[in-house]
Amino acid sequence: MKIMSVEPFILHVPVTGSQIADSTHTISHWGVVGVKIGTDNGLEGYGFTGTHSHLPSDQLITRCIETCHAPLLMGEDAHDVNRLWLKLARNPALQWVGRAGITTLSHAAIDVALWDLKAKAAGMPLWKLLGGQVRDKVRAYNTDIGWLSIADDKLVEGAKRAVADGFTGIKIKVGSTVERDLRRLEAVRKAIGPDVTLAIDGNGKWDLPTCLRFCRGAEPFDVYWFEEPLWYDDVKGHAELARATRIPTALGEQLYTQDAFSEFFHQNAIHWVQPDVTRMAGLTEVLRVCETAHSYRLPVAPHAGDMSQVHVHLSYAHPAVQVLEYIPWIKDCFTDPAQVVDGYFKLPQEPGAGTTPTKAAWDKFQKPAR
Ligand code: MG
Repeated sequence: MKIMSVEPFILHVPVTGSQIADSTHTISHWGVVGVKIGTDNGLEGYGFTGTHSHLPSDQLITRCIETCHAPLLMGEDAHDVNRLWLKLARNPALQWVGRAGITTLSHAAIDVALWDLKAKAAGMPLWKLLGGQVRDKVRAYNTDIGWLSIADDKLVEGAKRAVADGFTGIKIKVGSTVERDLRRLEAVRKAIGPDVTLAIDGNGKWDLPTCLRFCRGAEPFDVYWFEEPLWYDDVKGHAELARATRIPTALGEQLYTQDAFSEFFHQNAIHWVQPDVTRMAGLTEVLRVCETAHSYRLPVAPHAGDMSQVHVHLSYAHPAVQVLEYIPWIKDCFTDPAQVVDGYFKLPQEPGAGTTPTKAAWDKFQKPAR
């Protein structure tokens, strides 16, 4: 299965409503910045990373794919996912340019496209190629009802609707003021009752004293986890917070390497592990993090299930994964979309990683890749 073509692409897909906000950003579209890899047996593999759909920075990623990575892939055997991962990780064209950020995001898209090809060539869904189904179903939790931009009454309404739709877990954003966020947390907990898991996500906005004050007020509301309470790389701060509160800590969507995760593991600074195949250098690197998490007996909740498609396959195949995030912005852009029924992700059936875009999405959302 010789690689014959490597073509980057960009899609800008609208979010739910006209825009959403967390504690750090307001966005109207999600960027699906990816690559199509063609082989001599006629197969096409697709992989992508996710962005805030700023075209000039998206084009830095596609340019990195096209000019720095593609020359190393042409003529190679697409089956050799691990060998090609190392080849790209040690790409001499990118030495000193960066071991995180654009270099990693472009690597992510390629690695996922290679896994997609490998599964398509084997004629099986990716979860099967990863070793098979280790659980009957994957529980979904709904984040799309919990944005910071949603007014208090609508937040409660949305939470109740999600539970009525079958979700057994939801997550709401925090990171505005301690008083407002505690009020919202209490209102949602009262509305959904004690049996639905309720996580919160600060997106790294607050400092340690603010988090400590918030956690003291939040502990009575049975918070499932506090995601990104502090700045993403602050290992010491997360370790201190984890010791000071009964609320479990979660993070990972902003970490690019297994080494970055290892620091949090070593310092007992993390309870829930949240790697992302679109942010790290693909599924190959995320599998390493899942294995390490499992060795620490820590649960994994991959970031944004339907926004990578691959996380659904990973969640069915890896024993460390416990629950998966639901944000349905881009799922309908794919021929085998991630689907949640009665609060659980359905087991994908089509060969591949589920990353093949539909023609309709291609025609409607495509932006110039260069
Ligand atoms: Mg998050």
